[in-house]
Formats: sequence, C-alpha cells, structure tokens
Amino acid sequence: MDYDVIIIGAGPGGIFAAYELVNKRPGLRIAVFESGNELAKRRCPIDGKRIKSCINCKHCSIMSGFGGAGAFSDGKYNITNEFGGTLYEYIGKAQATELMEYVDAINLAHGGQGTKLYSTTSTAIRTMCMQNKLNLLNASVRHLGTDINRVVLNNLYEGLRSRVDFRFLTPVEHIEVLEEGYLVRTASESHTCKKCIVSVGRSGSKWMERVCHELDIETESNRVDIGVRVELPAELFAHLTDELYESKIVYRTNKFEDKVRTFCMNPRGSVVSENTNGIITVNGHSYEDPARQTNNTNFALLVSKHFSEPFKDSNGYGESIARLSNMLGGGIIVQRFGDLIRGRRSTHNRIDESFVVPTLTAEPGDLSLVLPKRIMDGIIEMIYALDKIAPGTANDDTLLYGVEVKFYNMQVRLNENLESRYPGLYIIGDGSGVTHSLSHASASGVFVARDILETCNE
Ligand SMILES: Cc1cc2nc3c(=O)[nH]c(=O)nc-3n(C[C@H](O)[C@H](O)[C@H](O)COP(=O)(O)OP(=O)(O)OC[C@H]3O[C@@H](n4cnc5c(N)ncnc54)[C@H](O)[C@@H]3O)c2cc1C
Repeated sequence: MDYDVIIIGAGPGGIFAAYELVNKRPGLRIAVFESGNELAKRRCPIDGKRIKSCINCKHCSIMSGFGGAGAFSDGKYNITNEFGGTLYEYIGKAQATELMEYVDAINLAHGGQGTKLYSTTSTAIRTMCMQNKLNLLNASVRHLGTDINRVVLNNLYEGLRSRVDFRFLTPVEHIEVLEEGYLVRTASESHTCKKCIVSVGRSGSKWMERVCHELDIETESNRVDIGVRVELPAELFAHLTDELYESKIVYRTNKFEDKVRTFCMNPRGSVVSENTNGIITVNGHSYEDPARQTNNTNFALLVSKHFSEPFKDSNGYGESIARLSNMLGGGIIVQRFGDLIRGRRSTHNRIDESFVVPTLTAEPGDLSLVLPKRIMDGIIEMIYALDKIAPGTANDDTLLYGVEVKFYNMQVRLNENLESRYPGLYIIGDGSGVTHSLSHASASGVFVARDILETCNE
C-alpha cells in the first residue's frame, strides 16, 4: 500500500481528519488529494473593477483548495445539533457536541484565541421572537471572521504540510475497490491505500454522485433550500447581532404553512457570488477586523423543498431556478424590496438612489420573474414578520439578491461509523449529505479519524 489513509478533499472535513490522524498516530502515511490550490494561491479574480462578475475559472477559488468552501467564509462555527447537519443521527447528540467543541478548541489553539463565542440560550430575544410567531433556534456560535478563519487555516496547514503528502490541483477521478484497500486514480497517477476518506463537499457533488453510481453505493435525494439574500443597514439588526451574532430564526407562513428561515447572518458583512458547477448563486461573509467591515448586515431567507416521487431531483429544481436567474441577470440579480412589492423591476437608477449601498455589484432586475410564487410569497411574509422584531426590515430600500440556493448533496447510505458498504471507505462532510456546516463537517472528520485509529495499524 502506498498510503495508510488517502483523504479526498482538503475542506474542513478532510483537514480535521488529517489533523486527528497525524496528531494521534504520527507514523501514519497520509495523502490528501485536492482539486483546488493551496491556501496562499487561492484568489478569486473578481476585483469589482476590472472583473466584476464570475468568469467560471477551472478551479473556483471560493469553493476549492485548502480550507474547502469554508476558506473565505465568515468562519461561523455553530456548535449545535439543531442545524448544520444530521451528524447526531449517526453518532448521537452528546458525541456530536463533544466533537464540535473539540474542533473549537483546536481552532482556538491555532490562532482563534480571543474570538467571541455567542449563545442563544438565555436571551430576551427568544421571547420577542415567540411573541411575533418567530422561533429562535438554540446554538453557540464561535465567530472567527473571514480574516481569523484564514489565519487558523494557515496555521493548520503549516502544522500538517511536513507530515501529510498534499497533492493540490489533483482531482481524483475514480476510486476502485481492491481485495484489501482502495486504488485512487487521478488523471496521471494512481495510488493504493488501506483506508479512504472522501470529503469532497458541495463542489464535488456531481463527482460523488458518479462514484456512488460506479461503486453501487445507495443514495437518496436530499432537500434544496431556495431564496434570497437580504441586505440592510447594520443598525437595524444590531440589537440581534450584537448579542447573538447569528440568529437562526424560523417562521411558518400563514398562507401555505411553509417554513422560511434566516441563514448565514453576516453583521457588517459583504454579499458575494459563488459558483457551484457553473451556476452562479449568492452568499455572504464578514470580517472580524473592524477596518474591513461594511455598513450593512446580510442574511439569507430560505425555503426548503424536497422532492421524492415521481420527481426526485431536488438539486435539479434548485439549479434550474438559479440558471433562470443567471439567464435573466447574467449572474446575480438585485432588487429593492419596495420595487418587488410594487411589481416592478429595479433599475440602475433606483439602486443608485437607494439609501442602502449594495456591497456586491449585481444586475438590477425582478426576482418575481425567477422565484416560484409560493417561495416568493413566503419570503415576503417573513420580511414583514422580521419587521416586527427589527423595524425597518421591510423598508423599500432593503436589498434582495437572488438567487441563494443551498444545494445539499444527495444522502449517501452510510453506517453509524460514516462508512459506506465497503469497510474502510468513509464518506464525510457536506459531500455525504450528512453535514452542511463547518462545525459538523470538521467533527465528521475527527470522528472517522478516530474510527480509523482504532482499526488501522502502521
Ligand atoms: C461563501 C461561503 C460562506 C460560508 N460560510 C459558512 C459559515 O460561516 N459557517 C458554516 O458553518 N458554513 C459556512 N459555509 C459552508 C461551509 O463552508 C461548508 O459546510 C464546509 O466547508 C463543508 O466542508 P467539507 O469539508 O465537507 O467540504 P468543502 O469545504 O466543500 O471541501 C471539499 C473539498 O474537496 C475538493 N474536491 C471536490 N471534488 C474533488 C475531487 N474529485 N478530488 C479532489 N478534491 C476534490 C474541493 O475542491 C474542496 O476543496 C459557507 C460556504 C460558502 C461557500
């Protein structure tokens, strides 16, 4: 065997698996294959001046490379079983929480010390939400911020690089099951290993689907979350974000009894575009460093859709909505809430005259031509509900960017060790459909590393 363990993907799942393996058993031979670049070379060409929107790079620097999709993220590690994935269904709530706290301690030891841990447990905001038909979910949130998150990743990389064989810009094409172990093939080489950890994230979703098909690993469709990113003056949400940083609030609509929820709240942050398999969607992040903060807060409002029979392709549904928005806007569309309510598109003039200055250059347009009525109605209802706890949310100048789509990978059939039907072939992180967050993906990496340590001899 060339390696004891091959890890595919250097996102949080892969990094924390490698970290646990080398620290607990320094003699193990470990390789990490990664489609994207090393951290220092990850650079999105969008500069807002020469290049204003996504040019579909071969390796998207936002989604791929050391640090995975999380590298330029806001670095919000939510320590909770209430959202961010269903890891607890496999390993139990107590162990999932313990692993998320362990990951938090490692982050603190690698440059995250001094960052704030927020908690939603005992707060008057919960009561205020309940009084207005809104439900605030429980969580502790470590906010590293985009800048400190990068420092932590860099320190983790420096600690690993001499002990792990990193292969950047080397996407894995195939995995073959051997009588003992696995053969991992890239375009130009192949390597054998005793155990293989697959942690390819959302950007690897199509590849993961193909591998599951080739290896006859059962999968199930997952849900897709569709909606918009809201951007408004930071002052309007300051009473929530100063105390909680991120509030995950769920609202059940009067009209359809659909659930709409806030997601990925970025106080004084920036709206960004992201490219998943050629589809441009919107996202957001914010810096811990006050010098890099903006005057706006952004967050997503999302509605979940899950299709099962006869149509199963929830992601395909989300993709076609995103494609429609890309077709109409050439990328991301931005619309003032006031224009949406008046049934008219936003124009460059209306956006220029708006009191909220957009942090992302996007094409002014009409989101009601893109989002299905049921989803649009739910989002509008939720904006009015949020207006009761944060007056001003429903102002005309509140900006809505579309579309935001959270693609969840199909759910891969795994046992309680996150192992596929092949012993020693682990599938973790967002690529498995089990997690959808930094903390859950990282915890899944530590979990399988510990499982391997129990069974793998050098
Ligand atoms: C802009 C943005 C902001 C976010 N903010 C937050 C946040 O604040 N908090 C939070 O909890 N979550 C956030 N997320 C989500 C979070 O980043 C992911 O949940 C997390 O990164 C998942 O980790 P992972 O290791 O499973 O996958 P990923 O981080 O996606 O890493 C997978 C890696 O595998 C590589 N790969 C894919 N296919 C192959 C292949 N065939 N061969 C080799 N390598 C391959 C990819 O290049 C990638 O680097 C954000 C995401 C984005 C895009």
